[in-house]
Amino acid sequence: MTYPEFPDSENFTTIGDILNGAVDGKSISVRGWIYRTRSSGKLSFVVLRDSTGIIQSIVSSDSVSESSFTASKKALVESSVLVTGIPIKDERAPGGWELKASNFEVLHYADTFPITKDQSDEHLLNNRHLWLRSRDMVSCLKIRSTIFQAFRNYWISLGYSEVQSPSFTTSACEGGSTLFNVSYDDQNEKSGQKFYAHLSQSWQLYAEATMFGLEKIFTVAPSFRAEKSRTRRHLTEFWHAEVEAAWTHNHQMMELEEGMITTILNEVLSNNLSELEHLGRDVSLLQNVKGPFEKMKYSDVIDELNSLGFDLSWGDDFGYKEEKALTSSRTQPLFITHFPKEKGFYHRPDPADPKSLVCHDLLAPEGYGEIIGGGERIWSPEELDTRIREEGMEPSSYGWYMDLRKYGSVPHSGFGLGLDRLTSWICGAEHIKNVIPFPRTMRRTNP
Ligand code: ATP
Ligand code: MN
Repeated sequence: MTYPEFPDSENFTTIGDILNGAVDGKSISVRGWIYRTRSSGKLSFVVLRDSTGIIQSIVSSDSVSESSFTASKKALVESSVLVTGIPIKDERAPGGWELKASNFEVLHYADTFPITKDQSDEHLLNNRHLWLRSRDMVSCLKIRSTIFQAFRNYWISLGYSEVQSPSFTTSACEGGSTLFNVSYDDQNEKSGQKFYAHLSQSWQLYAEATMFGLEKIFTVAPSFRAEKSRTRRHLTEFWHAEVEAAWTHNHQMMELEEGMITTILNEVLSNNLSELEHLGRDVSLLQNVKGPFEKMKYSDVIDELNSLGFDLSWGDDFGYKEEKALTSSRTQPLFITHFPKEKGFYHRPDPADPKSLVCHDLLAPEGYGEIIGGGERIWSPEELDTRIREEGMEPSSYGWYMDLRKYGSVPHSGFGLGLDRLTSWICGAEHIKNVIPFPRTMRRTNP
């Protein structure tokens, strides 16, 4: 197949610029794809899309060459095209503008596109490689990009360094039931020995080691968890934004997180209003999120849930049902503190009430639930030894981690934020799969 000569970039205008009125009345060219098309008699109405928006072009057999007109009638949805014309303001047109074409060129004629209106979620997931062109996906992914960047900028502005930790590891930190084991073949052929590793569930243990040098650190990386329960908020590979800081107590970390969440929301509100509107998001709910966030102790949360008809007692874990009940009628994020100590061996027990921990979760409102888990880490070697034994594990199997408490231990805190969950809440998504390009679950690794 031969393609027409590809013209220089500077000769093109984005559809977004047309919709902003930046090129009013001038002859311009756009390049993009056919979003929708119909023709009647001497007119073709071809809606074009690029990454910045959609606009309808009118191709009239009276104003373009015969080859342009034939191309505009023949080209199917998702054909790639170059269109020249004059943008005309027209309140009735979608977006308020129309492009009166003087030239219509098809770069590549698309086959019949396999996605049409009203298709099942399963069909859209099977065709994710094509569905990524949809305006829904593009809107979510633009918002997601702002969130990732705002997360980084916030911590960098506070003097934190970005660091990476391995994905292959042999130390579990979030419990064995969700570990993905991988066979990790020995490269040394003489020994013939096979090694096993698993995929990281969190960078935390590595973060604690790295922190002693850099003091204030963060990462953005995938974490892997074999999540058996199918919920609207679990992926098997998710994007984990984690922070660790020396000389920092739990309440100080919570304050920083509050600043992070409001900063990220402000960035999305100032960069992505049109995407939020496209998604039908109630923007006022996001605009009204303000610190300080409400804080409740775990035991008070149990009481509130029981008053809502649950039957929970000290030590019970909250699942999606509980968190949904707790947050559905809330419009502000909620911190839960003082979880029972069984929540994690590395969290510091509260000196004033050792059956609970100096830790926190942050729950997003509107029924979304947990987006952050964090807390102060145990920094005394004796206490860590005791806690690991209490959890039925052997301190010696945490060899290098125990080492960290031997050489100048300091108070430190950190947290893990699920970026896909945060994006889900901000977009108002029905399912976490809607906000990541290629979602991974227990049943899907393709495309
Ligand atoms: P949950 O109880 O909802 O499974 P968790 O307590 O296992 O969450 P943490 O271990 O505290 O979660 O992980 C920190 C954050 O990482 C969570 O608050 C959440 O935002 C995110 N996260 C954890 N597991 C997943 C997952 N399977 N998919 C997407 N995000 C996740
Ligand atoms: Mn989990």
